[in-house]
Amino acid sequence: MKRIGLFGGTFDPPHNGHMHIARAFADELQLESVIFIPAGEPYHKQIKSNTTNTQRQDMVERIIAIDKRFSMSDCDLLRKGPTYTFDTVSRFRQVFPQAQIWWLVGMDSLLQLPAWYRYQSLLECTNLAIAARGNATIASVPAQLQLWLADALNKFKSQPDGNDGGRAFILKADYLPISSTCIRSHWPDGVRHDVPMAVAEYNDQQGLYQA
Ligand code: ATP
Repeated sequence: MKRIGLFGGTFDPPHNGHMHIARAFADELQLESVIFIPAGEPYHKQIKSNTTNTQRQDMVERIIAIDKRFSMSDCDLLRKGPTYTFDTVSRFRQVFPQAQIWWLVGMDSLLQLPAWYRYQSLLECTNLAIAARGNATIASVPAQLQLWLADALNKFKSQPDGNDGGRAFILKADYLPISSTCIRSHWPDGVRHDVPMAVAEYNDQQGLYQA
């Protein structure tokens, strides 16, 4: 069964925390590819810096060069107006009708999920791969997701194959305490090692995140 991971994010900048979970998901779920999808105007998250879309895209290009399973789609950057994960996943379902599609998130994103546009339909049409982040635990998952999560974890165990959605997987990899917010506020002091070298060099060359 061909499995594909979709990894949406602001990626301002992409960092080693992103790389770490993308690789761990690819290993654990045997993903054929992980497609990084830089957000255009995500309706659930404000972009909080002056970084341009082209610069975010350039940085993601430097990350995907590191692992041959990684690639990037600019579909959300090209779309006008707010972008909804539900629409993004629906498009990929059409492109890869036979594949099992996984949307990759950190636990902080899972906790926000009930605020996302058509999140219930989203959970029906895709499978959700969740990585630890911060102090949030499964116990902090909002009540309206708990039943779904229990069923979805069981579905992956009992029916690992299938091109439908409704499965969940929780990654047991270590959590790297890195965030783009912290990198933007402190660059370069103490955070330079939190991004791959090629991203650090690009940031310097472009003069990003200067106070
Ligand atoms: P910001 O600090 O600007 O909010 P961020 O570091 O959360 O950014 P995003 O690009 O918004 O980065 O994250 C994309 C996805 O990656 C989200 O699902 C987020 O939960 C996840 N993620 C980001 N950093 C980590 C990390 N260190 N560990 C686990 N998941 C992460």
